[in-house]
Amino acid sequence: MGMWASLDAMWEMPAEKRIFGAVLLFSWTVYLWETFLAQRQRRIYKTTTRVPPELGQIMDSETFEKSRLYQLDKSTFSFWSGLYSEIEGTLILLFGGIPYLWRLSGRFCGFAGFGPEYEITQSLVFLLLATLFSALTGLPWSLYNTFVIEEKHGFNQQTLGFFMKDAVKKFIVTQCILLPVSSLLLYIIKIGGDYFFIYAWLFTLVVSLVLVTIYADYIAPLFDKFTPLPEGKLKQEIEVMAKSIDFPLTKVYVVEGSKRSSHSNAYFYGFFKNKRIVLFDTLLEEYSVLNKDILEESGMEPRKDGEGDSEEIKAKVKNKKQGCKNEEVLAVLGHELGHWKLGHTVKNIIISQVLSFCLTVLSRRFEFQADAFAKKLGKANDLYSALIKLNKDNLGFPVSDRLFSMWHYSHPPLLERLRALESSKRD
Ligand SMILES: [Zn+2]
Repeated sequence: MGMWASLDAMWEMPAEKRIFGAVLLFSWTVYLWETFLAQRQRRIYKTTTRVPPELGQIMDSETFEKSRLYQLDKSTFSFWSGLYSEIEGTLILLFGGIPYLWRLSGRFCGFAGFGPEYEITQSLVFLLLATLFSALTGLPWSLYNTFVIEEKHGFNQQTLGFFMKDAVKKFIVTQCILLPVSSLLLYIIKIGGDYFFIYAWLFTLVVSLVLVTIYADYIAPLFDKFTPLPEGKLKQEIEVMAKSIDFPLTKVYVVEGSKRSSHSNAYFYGFFKNKRIVLFDTLLEEYSVLNKDILEESGMEPRKDGEGDSEEIKAKVKNKKQGCKNEEVLAVLGHELGHWKLGHTVKNIIISQVLSFCLTVLSRRFEFQADAFAKKLGKANDLYSALIKLNKDNLGFPVSDRLFSMWHYSHPPLLERLRALESSKRD
């Protein structure tokens, strides 16, 4: 009743205020919907306190409980941080934060000797201040997430110094890209005439293609250390598999993900005939710095660490073995290469303009297809055990609310993937 009355009142307002009201209404509707979904999923974390019988074979109750508590903490965190940012956004709109920042930018420009004709300069100062504001208000949340939640559950590997250096670097690199690109964009809009939106769209398309091209080679290495995978059995087998499906592999890298967290991953990148595979060191049982102690005991050669932080990491090593066996790493890669062979990357780029919900649905479909592809490569059994291990290492929670997972998960729930693999394992 109250909502409809305020809707009525909205239509009697002048156009500006109507748009303003519509933005607020839309933002709160989305927020409430997502909070509703999150509460549904949260109820699952709270009530599913025992390993469901169908999962008994693949998950021990200790891992299950660990993952349950981790997901509960994460959901509490995202409830409060989500509430904060929704209220912050609303207050900024209500109290005219954006026009205020615009006037402030104008004053800065005037102070620096630019007249009012320098609208583009004023826009850039505005952008700089806005991103600075959002970085600063986001910082406490990000600190809490890394050093309280991830730390508590044994994932965090960062020191405070590393974190702050990383944050400053990220801000500077973002500005180095954002400011020149937006000043060009504003210039194009200014001189573009009636068809400015076509030119602006083309420009942003070109910029995003360029960024995708240079990201892995020039931007990612600013933040993380990439080293070529040493010659050996794993590398050979990766090359054999790539060749068997005509994947134009040029290099295999290991990225030092363990500097940040013990979450693990693998991906490939590159255009046309120049594809590279990146494996997180945390994915590789034989390579993971997190297993260093175990490796030393077993007499294997741990990898050399160029920088002096290994002591800190070593101090944080939890007494558990992390990562996958070579065969399992290959199975995971078989899945990743499935994404390539089936053209998912290109399809994703084309569809990325569409609503994110459709993308999520499609992405889950692609996950099944890539699993089936890895299975065709004869990796069903190893992928099966790799998925279980990765879920364990990352403390993924295997049970989810139907609506919540439909809306959010880009990957199908573990159990569904295992079931699909299982039916094929028997083939
Ligand atoms: Zn995938």
